[in-house]
Amino acid sequence: MLPPFQTALPILKTLEDAGFEAFFVGGAIRDMLLERPIHDVDIATSAKPLEVKALFPHTIDIGIEHGTVLVLYKGGQYEVTTFRTESEYKDYRRPESVWYVDSLLEDLKRRDFTMNAIAMDDAGKLVDPFSGCDAIRNKTIQTVGSPEERFHEDALRMMRAIRFTSQLGFTIEAETKRAISLHAPLLQYIAAERITQEFIRLLEGPYPYEALKLLCETKLLSYLPGLNGAETRLEAKLHPDLNRLTEKQLWLYLLAVCGLGNKEAFLHQWRLPASKRKEILRTFGFLQKRLQAEWDLAALYDAGETAATDAETVFWALRQEKWEPRVQTMKEEFLKMKITERSELSVTGTDLMLWFGKSGGPWIKEMLRESEMAVLNGEIANDREAIRRWLMCKHQRETEF
Ligand code: ATP
Ligand code: MG
Repeated sequence: MLPPFQTALPILKTLEDAGFEAFFVGGAIRDMLLERPIHDVDIATSAKPLEVKALFPHTIDIGIEHGTVLVLYKGGQYEVTTFRTESEYKDYRRPESVWYVDSLLEDLKRRDFTMNAIAMDDAGKLVDPFSGCDAIRNKTIQTVGSPEERFHEDALRMMRAIRFTSQLGFTIEAETKRAISLHAPLLQYIAAERITQEFIRLLEGPYPYEALKLLCETKLLSYLPGLNGAETRLEAKLHPDLNRLTEKQLWLYLLAVCGLGNKEAFLHQWRLPASKRKEILRTFGFLQKRLQAEWDLAALYDAGETAATDAETVFWALRQEKWEPRVQTMKEEFLKMKITERSELSVTGTDLMLWFGKSGGPWIKEMLRESEMAVLNGEIANDREAIRRWLMCKHQRETEF
């Protein structure tokens, strides 16, 4: 048994010694079989939440209404969830309340995909009633039971299916894919935050190209915030180089190709945090500049290395030609720069007011910019006295003429 399970084994034993059943379940088993890094080791048990709490000294109530207790053990956190099914589904969302069930089998049955419905006992033996191991071997995403019913119960599962294609490089089984096309409109009942969570994981995965293609093919894309009807534009621009882009770069790509109106409003619809929206929009400005012209020193300096690299990478992805973003050359340019941001300039606004005997105003910003550019271009050294002399000379002459 792999170390993450070994570490958590005493939790299973404690539950079993108290007369309950307990198994490892969910994503950790899938990732173990795929030899991927294991994140959260989840446990399913026949013990009810209060019984779980009574057995472990350190627990947190994170979702008792869903049957989940967080057990803190040896520095780790483990979600221990009572075998459950879900009560009637309403509004195509997972219900507020749950029914506890007696058997592991019933619990595995309510899980989304066969690859996520495998359990493992304390001896490392797998319980796989829905042939999840075969699905993993064949790299297939398939719902447990009728895909139509399962997506009708909880429409977010459609997003989860496609996000897993990006994370795992799997294919969605034909019936499951057909059901996504059929039920795509149900996604409108799902809260934007939950859609965003899945979409970000999709963008972060190694195969976003394949996943975005699926979103277009199934028309699920139309039910994502702000993307109604964007399939044709996006589909025309999709190509495998998108798998080279980071999450932030993919947002820039979407902004560039989806024919969106107000880009700020679009990012807002996705409920992205303000700081992230701001940085994406700022970088998008440099991408637009790059689409007009090559980088010059001032543009590189204004963007900064991160935004410049992002804009350059997306620029190449938009060109759909041989992949040659000049990221390395840009890196060297940044290394050669005398200053890389205003705070590195040896003079401040206060210096200027003192030297020119004038009070604050827009002239300060202009003069600082001039100084920055002169230092950047190598016209003057980044030295307080050198800049003072250069500015004095330049501006006195100006007032004389
Ligand atoms: P990840 O590695 O991204 O965490 P995961 O499979 O562990 O993937 P979680 O969201 O942590 O995903 O969910 C844990 C388990 O709960 C899943 O493996 C699956 O069995 C079940 N599950 C999660 N969401 C749903 C859902 N919407 N419908 C049915 N079962 C679900
Ligand atoms: Mg998980």
